[in-house]
Order: sequence, then structure tokens, then C-alpha cells
Amino acid sequence: MLEQLDKQYVMQTYARNYVNFKKGINATLFDENQKDYIDFTSGIGVVSVGHGNKRVADVICNQANSIMHISNLYAIEPQAKLGEKIAKLYGKDVATFFSNSGAEANEGAIKLARKYGQTKFENKRYKVITLENSFHGRTISTVKATGQASMHTPNFAPYPDGFSFNSAIEDVYNSIDDETVAVMIELVQGEGGVKPLDKKAVQELAKFLKENNILLIIDEVQSGTFRTGEFLATQVYEIEPDIITMAKGLGGSVPIGAVITTHKDLFSVGDHGSTFGGNYLCTAAALEVLTILDEYKNSGALDETIIFFTDELKKVYEANQELFTGSVGLGLMRGLRVKDADTLASIIKESFNEGLLVLKAGRNTLRMLPPLTISKDEIKEGFKRLQNALNKVKNA
Ligand SMILES: *Cc1c(COP(=O)(O)O)cnc(C)c1O
Repeated sequence: MLEQLDKQYVMQTYARNYVNFKKGINATLFDENQKDYIDFTSGIGVVSVGHGNKRVADVICNQANSIMHISNLYAIEPQAKLGEKIAKLYGKDVATFFSNSGAEANEGAIKLARKYGQTKFENKRYKVITLENSFHGRTISTVKATGQASMHTPNFAPYPDGFSFNSAIEDVYNSIDDETVAVMIELVQGEGGVKPLDKKAVQELAKFLKENNILLIIDEVQSGTFRTGEFLATQVYEIEPDIITMAKGLGGSVPIGAVITTHKDLFSVGDHGSTFGGNYLCTAAALEVLTILDEYKNSGALDETIIFFTDELKKVYEANQELFTGSVGLGLMRGLRVKDADTLASIIKESFNEGLLVLKAGRNTLRMLPPLTISKDEIKEGFKRLQNALNKVKNA
């Protein structure tokens, strides 16, 4: 029924599973037949404070009952407070522009960088360098910024000029020319395979860019919102980028993106905008999400959850060496490298049958992005189900 409806009326741009989820409680989902699933995906890093979070739901209900939207032509109190909260959690003098998604946040970051390149130098600088296997979004320019040649299909050409990617940080230096305005990177490549970049190499690059007046844009759409154990992976890497983008986990399920910058006055009135961006509803929700996660981090609970998850992950990794070739990631952004892509596909399928949702990243990485508030029981149960799935794959 749902499958038929979906196939008839929704553009088929996803390889979908036809399960009909009806309810979620923290990291557990229930389908229409009351079968339960442990959610190690949190909707690709979105449901940061768990499904059915009562505090966020109450804030959304209250906000919906009073006012949800007024255009950005008027000041919006929860938007201003969310901007303040982001600056406080980051600990820097930054201002934020609110968008509706990660790609849109990156678009904003690219526009900001291009304005910098237009206004701060004698010759216009506009080129943005990214890294291979990065992922920056699905709009025409963020697809082009994405460092995966396979995504630059002729179907959508021509793409905007000014984007190139390098296979390693060390190669970025050679690609910089007098038209380069920014380098944009993920500190932990998400879609590309849960790959944390080397901290020293990132710090050296950041220093070089600062000395040469080239902007550093950190795409924290996936790694932000406490995913790596700190509010931003930027804080884990101890760098000071010019621009940071966020989205996924920020709204706890409500669509919201953010462009955060120390160049607070670079955009002037009229330079950028969004009809929906930063409305009452999404910013009130995101403010509550950050309040919850700030408390959760300060109480020690986030670190404890990360340690527990890491221990359980390690056990499964070590017990199944014939399937895995590496364990990667940071905080609650984790991956297991699987020996080949076909085996990974079987693991994901068997996990689903066992009642565990996991993700794929890159060619052969089993990716896990559980809600940050996942309970120890849910972690234990999830890894138990993963082991059952692995046994089936091994015996197939
Ligand atoms: C998901 C993701 C994006 C795109 O975000 P959307 O909200 O899907 O537009 C951009 N960058 C990174 C690092 C992501 O993980």
C-alpha cells in the first residue's frame, strides 16, 4: 500500500526500504506491525536528541500554538537566542545566518567567501578547493564542490566554475593560486567513509591559510552538534576557521542549517536571504536541542555514552576480523571498514532483518550515527543484533 503510493506519487530518487515506521522512542523505532528497530542512523545524523524527545516536542507545540513564522524582515527572538547559544558554545565572537539545509548552508558559505574574494583583493579571488571523497550537498554548486568525480555527471552540466578538489591535504598547497579564496573541508568526512583528517595536517593547513589570507571553511553539517563529543569538531581539532556550516543534528529533526562566521559584517543587507530560514519554529526547536545537549555534555553523560558505544563497537570489531579491515571515526560518528562492498550490502540487509538500522558510507564503510542520547541498553541490544546479522552473513 505505502510502497504503491510512494512509487506512483513520489519521484524515485532513493533506493528505499518499504518499512512503515509509526513511532520512535529515543533510539528505538516501531513499524506498523510493532516490530522494533534499534536506530544507529538517527536519520543520517539528524535525530540528535532521540526520537519523540518530549522537551523538543513541547517547545515545538508551544511555538506552533503561538507563532511559527514571520519573514526575516522582522527580528525573530528564538533566532537571535540561537545565534547567541551557538556563539557561546563555540566560545568565539561569531554571527550566524540560518538556512534550511546543509547544502544551503554551504551555498551561503561559498557566497560569503566569494564576496571576501571580490572585496578584499585587487584581483578577484573566487576559487574554492575541496578534498576528494568529500560531500558538500546536492545543489548545482555544492555538487561541484563535492570531491567525487562520479557526482559531476554530464546530466546536470554545466557546473559553476571555480571548484577543484585534491586527493590529500598535503596536495592542497600546490593547487592554491592567486585566485584561490577558500579551502572547504570536512574534519571527519562523513559520506566519504567516516574518515577523520589528521589533526596536525589540518592545523598546519589552517595556519598556512591564515598567513596567506585564504579562508578556511569547515563543513560541520554532519560532524557538528556534539557528534564528535564536542559542540564542533573544530574544537576537537583546535582550529579557528573563518566559516563553519552546520545542519543535520542542529534541529533535532526540524530542518535548519547555519553559516557561522567570524567575518560578521562581510554580508550586507540584501546579499543573502531565505524565506523560511531561521523561522520561529525551527530556531526554537534548535535552541532546545542545544540546551539539552549542553546539559548532557556537562553532566558527563555524552562522554560516558561515547565510551560505552566505543567499547561495544570494539568487541564486535575484534570478534569479526574476517569481515572488517578497520575501525574509524570519532565520538558517535563511527565506521567499520568492511572487506568488500557486497559484504557490506549483506550486512546492512541482515541488520535490517534483525531490527537494526545502519548506514553505508563511501564504498565499503558500515556507518553508525546513533542519537547522541542513545541508552546503554539500546547500544547493547543494537550490537547484539549486529552480531546476529554478521553471523548470518558469515554462514551464508
Ligand atoms: C549531509 C551533508 C551535507 C548536505 O546536507 P543537506 O541537508 O542534505 O543539504 C553537506 N555536507 C555534509 C558534510 C553532509 O554530511
